[in-house]
Amino acid sequence: MNYCFGVDVGGTTVKMGLFDLEGNVLDKWEIVTRKEDDGKWILPDIAESINKKIVEKKLTAEDIKGVGIGVPGPVDSRGVVYKAANLGWGVFNVEEELSQHTGVSVKAGNDANVAALGEMWKGGGQGHRDLVAVTLGTGVGGGIIVDGRMLTGATGAGGEIGHIHVEDNETESCGCGNKGCLEQYSSATGIVKLANRRLLADKEESVLRNTEISAKSVFDALKANDKVATEVVEEFGCYLGKGLAAIAAVVNPEIFVIGGGVSNAGPILLDYIKKYYTPYVFHGSRDALFALATLGNDAGIYGAAKLVLE
Ligand code: ZN
Repeated sequence: MNYCFGVDVGGTTVKMGLFDLEGNVLDKWEIVTRKEDDGKWILPDIAESINKKIVEKKLTAEDIKGVGIGVPGPVDSRGVVYKAANLGWGVFNVEEELSQHTGVSVKAGNDANVAALGEMWKGGGQGHRDLVAVTLGTGVGGGIIVDGRMLTGATGAGGEIGHIHVEDNETESCGCGNKGCLEQYSSATGIVKLANRRLLADKEESVLRNTEISAKSVFDALKANDKVATEVVEEFGCYLGKGLAAIAAVVNPEIFVIGGGVSNAGPILLDYIKKYYTPYVFHGSRDALFALATLGNDAGIYGAAKLVLE
């Protein structure tokens, strides 16, 4: 029982890692996510890859404490996934099915929640047990850790912070079908939308005009003191900072760990979030720390390995 596997299932690839029980990654690899036939090959492919690795490393099933797996959909505390639309999956118990294929015990969680666990264990949130992880990518993902444990909720939808309602006057729909969700303004695509709307509002000069706008180009323009970019980032920070203040009123975290592609902007990102967090948060959570995530795309496999060691 000296090793475990951490698996992070994405829409195009499955990331996998072999870990010792202290959390050192001994090997890391990827396989393709086969989504045909409603994703029914995904778990057998993962099991085959794990079994091959066990043979390659001259291990036996007795050496393996278990397999942890993060999947892109709601997963409850018993390992039941409630539809992972990306993979074509319906409702079934991931832990039981992968365990049948591998012969070892399996723990499953939602990918964003599992990544939060990884950041707490070996990333930007090390040393803390009450943590909110925020992933600013194409969407806004989140994971909430309370006293060292993932908050999954009744149907695995806990920590879906990207879908907190923050704007009543939105006409476009979010991917979830609602209007005015946090991720419509604070994701990479949300920032681009805010920038395009701001540029259309008047003729203010900006380096962003007539260019292909990305979250990166907006933050680059901010650092060059572009007025329009500064207003866009203020708006982004206002939505996100107030949203995190609302979360803090419920979970009172020690630390917020901010990751995802947008976080490549660096510490200046945290300044604009804190600017709108601090004045609106309940005083008991005013001193919460803010840090950048450090594990990048590996947060999922670390967190999945940690699931096994709980
Ligand atoms: Zn939404």
